[in-house]
Amino acid sequence: MDKVFQVADLLNRANCAVALTGAGISTASGIPDFRGPQGIWRKVDPSKFEISHLYRNPDEVWRLFVSIFAPKETIAPNPAHKALAQLESMGKLCAVITQNVDGLHQAAGSARVVELHGSLRYAVCTKCGMKYTLGEVLSTYNGSAPRCRVCGGVLKPDVVFFGEPLPQEALNEAVLLSELSEVFMVIGSSLAVAPANRLPLIAKRHGAKIVIINSGPTEMDEIADVVIEGRAEEVLPRIVEALRAGYREGAFRD
Ligand code: NAD
Repeated sequence: MDKVFQVADLLNRANCAVALTGAGISTASGIPDFRGPQGIWRKVDPSKFEISHLYRNPDEVWRLFVSIFAPKETIAPNPAHKALAQLESMGKLCAVITQNVDGLHQAAGSARVVELHGSLRYAVCTKCGMKYTLGEVLSTYNGSAPRCRVCGGVLKPDVVFFGEPLPQEALNEAVLLSELSEVFMVIGSSLAVAPANRLPLIAKRHGAKIVIINSGPTEMDEIADVVIEGRAEEVLPRIVEALRAGYREGAFRD
């Protein structure tokens, strides 16, 4: 059976499908991934984004952050983000769990998005926890680390740095969704970063079919039921189209 049709068939049969996305789903939107051939970690030392490094060298970390990660107005969801939003509105996807911080799933119209690594919408004070919108912080950025208006503490983009725990509520929700899922699709992730890469194992242990859609091999291909090696922005719209064709032609029931 064609693999795209096979995934459409799995989604059609499932009561709860969940997608786990990584940086690879956003490369077609112009955001580089971390570990792919053009990945950020091939140009920048990841230890610069250790939380301890932020405390020691806040000005340097903010300079790097602004040059690499600051959101650009031209960045928009691509057909892969849109296909996941369509699957949700067709009742075929319960939720997206994402390792990305770019907000592109929400921009594409996905309603239930669990952000495991925080988001680029906010900056937070490392001392008192006061939150600011990142746009507001960047509008007055002058090359030095921005500081809290309330207590003077250094601000941190509200994303998870190396050495920091994941937000507990998001992690709990992601584990629960993984346990409940009948189909668990991993899209555009090398599955090299824990604990997100434990989620497919949890889903598998609870009986889910595992689908991996990635442009290269991942660390968990051997546990997957279907592996599609390809670009998310091409494969996902084909899955949506296969589902729609299945309903039109009576192969699937709505
Ligand atoms: P990763 O870089 O480790 O893996 C991305 C994978 O996607 C690679 O295997 C790559 O071959 C594949 N890929 C690249 N383009 C693709 C495409 N068009 N279609 C399908 N696959 C494609 O990224 P990860 O697994 O998400 O690593 C997790 C870390 O990366 C997280 O900490 C996350 O916060 C961070 N990150 C996020 C963003 C973002 O918000 N968009 C960007 C860079 C890094």
